[in-house]
Amino acid sequence: MRLALPLPLHQQFDYALPAGAAPPLPGARVKVRFGRQQLVGICTDPAPADPHERLRPLTAVIDATPALDPEQLALGHWLSEYYHHPLGEVLSLLLPPAARRGASLAPATVTGYRLLGSPGDLTRAPKQAALAARLVAGPAPRATLLTEGHSAATIRALSQKGHLETIELDPGPAPTAVATQAPLTPRPEQAEAIEAICDSFGRFAPFLLEGITGSGKTEVYLQCMARVLMRGEQVLVLVPEIALTPQTRARFEARFGTAAALHSQVSDGERLDLWRGCRDGTVSVLIGTRSASLTPFARLGLIIVDEEHDGSYKQTEGLRYSARDLAVKRAADLRIPLVLGSATPALESIANARAGRYRHLILRERAGGAAEPQVRLLDIRGQSLEDGISMDLRRAIGAHLDAGAQVLVFLNRRGYAPSLICGACGHVATCAACDQPMTYHRQGQPSGDVRGQLRCHHCGARATTDGSCEACAAQALVPVGVGTQRSEEALKRWFPQVPCYRIDRDTARSKARLQAHFEAIASGAPALLIGTQILAKGHHFPNVTLVAMLGVDGGLAAADYRAPERTAQLIVQVAGRAGRAERPGEVWIQTLQPENPLLTGLLREGYPGFASRELERRREAGLPPAALMALLRADSPEATAPGAFLTRLRDGLRRAHAERGAGAAIELLGPVPAPMQRLGGRHRFQLLLLASERALLHRALRWVSRHGHDIRTPGHLRWSIDVDPLDCV
Ligand code: ADP
Ligand code: ZN
Repeated sequence: MRLALPLPLHQQFDYALPAGAAPPLPGARVKVRFGRQQLVGICTDPAPADPHERLRPLTAVIDATPALDPEQLALGHWLSEYYHHPLGEVLSLLLPPAARRGASLAPATVTGYRLLGSPGDLTRAPKQAALAARLVAGPAPRATLLTEGHSAATIRALSQKGHLETIELDPGPAPTAVATQAPLTPRPEQAEAIEAICDSFGRFAPFLLEGITGSGKTEVYLQCMARVLMRGEQVLVLVPEIALTPQTRARFEARFGTAAALHSQVSDGERLDLWRGCRDGTVSVLIGTRSASLTPFARLGLIIVDEEHDGSYKQTEGLRYSARDLAVKRAADLRIPLVLGSATPALESIANARAGRYRHLILRERAGGAAEPQVRLLDIRGQSLEDGISMDLRRAIGAHLDAGAQVLVFLNRRGYAPSLICGACGHVATCAACDQPMTYHRQGQPSGDVRGQLRCHHCGARATTDGSCEACAAQALVPVGVGTQRSEEALKRWFPQVPCYRIDRDTARSKARLQAHFEAIASGAPALLIGTQILAKGHHFPNVTLVAMLGVDGGLAAADYRAPERTAQLIVQVAGRAGRAERPGEVWIQTLQPENPLLTGLLREGYPGFASRELERRREAGLPPAALMALLRADSPEATAPGAFLTRLRDGLRRAHAERGAGAAIELLGPVPAPMQRLGGRHRFQLLLLASERALLHRALRWVSRHGHDIRTPGHLRWSIDVDPLDCV
């Protein structure tokens, strides 16, 4: 029989069935020996192999019922072909981690009790009598008995008398807690969207729900979900980062009582339970990050992808899939509706909507009646900044705080300063493995004291600094540039009368502290918030009346062709966090480029106007979504090997295409050094493939995955295929 094994090889393996064993069904897990390893593989074809071939027998068949159902198997084949990733590794990823190691996938059971015989006279033990009476009607789960008020001691006592039998019960539908929130009355725009989505139950219908922050998208999701649940079906909600936005989940729970959450902090044991619960239909709502898109469902009725433009939906290593695109594929296969929601949709999604592939639903007004913020550009050319902030901005911050409001300062750079330079010799403290400046992080030192930690934000390397230069030993290191720690320090110095909360990946590590910060901000008292793009996700700050954006010039100057899209999304997302009806927000963008067409266009025409112009620019340049892209990357500790490898790949690909007369239809750009030329001690190169048609791109990539392995490479070289890459870095 044929097996897919979790190995980085584009091939399947034939094994024999041990004598007397029942053959596994397709999708069942088996244990095999491969070389000296024990692997868990998936049966893809149970047909016996040619009896003349001498095959090694597999070790054991794990599943009588296949671990992967036909939909999952088909999904695995599709993922493997679309992303050109080995099937065995893909199928393994479709299983929860514990199951990849062989854990049982039989339906989950819960411990419960059955009454044995008649308990006799229990008048002297009224609690035990009550428990016995409760169980006369039939067995019950232990957890249910406890919530009903029967104590563990009572259960134990009745058990010890021999009146209870401990049994494993089918959990049935997950107990639903009581919902505490009623649906709101939808506004006409919302009602229209809800009707359109609910009219499409039972067939494939993709929707792009575009609406600024606060326009009531989540309310639309909630009302559609309620209708799906009434049909006895399940809902999958994908979100970018649930750990940072506990209130998202809280809102779903307030409406439906329970909502299961799947994210990176969920343990392997819980993952297994969630996976089984979704597969068996006992979990009705699953909210999760990227990997939740791979979960099997018994009766999925609707998929929602919130903040669909978010880059975290794309996996950047291993199987480089996009959870958003996978969601579209699954909705099509399962014939169910799908809602992609965002205030700033990805340009691909807008192009799909304009081409008629998605139905475009737009929410134009803010639901709570909040006015849209006023955005202005603050020209800082020729001005001297103190800790990255201009005098005008500092005065404006003071005025808003004096008026009793809150101010949000946005800066997308963690740490104190992006680099340290030696005032004596000009040497910059640099990561030896990445050739990039190390970011300086302070650890409670008084201002002016240049001691603390140096961190490489690319590879994670850390070092301590005592303020002396590693090149000339002078005690003369000075911070260059501004990170959130430095702005925080300055703001605290200027405005000591108000609390200042910093929210970035460093402070978000403590969830309790993060929660405390959000609660303090929600109280509405005057406060300063300083933070990175974490602030652009999921939160609304109604008492913030001034949003100040620093450092957007860096985004404008980035080389990546997607930088304008990302910068525009970030500006709109951050700007949208502020204000409410009686206190419309103000947004100040501090920039050295007040005439930059992206900025002025965005201010004049808003995101939709920006999107039109940017799509036109991409079309003229022949870039996605007007063309299809794949990126081949190679890296090695040795400087020339990656470039040499990609050159051979490119030449081979050109020859193969010329032979088929398809040479002109596919463009090969490179190889060139990657924008981050060195990372973690490895030299990096890339080769870009652009094609006008999906089929052509895939033909080229099939050639690459088949022949790339034939090219003799030194053992230290790694290479990969990235289809629809997001970052060309
Ligand atoms: P979004 O998801 O687009 O950011 P939300 O659904 O979170 O928007 O709505 C923003 C705010 O407006 C929330 O406080 C929500 O409770 C409120 N809201 C949404 N729809 C309505 C409605 N129809 N009537 C009154 N308030 C609403
Ligand atoms: Zn580094």
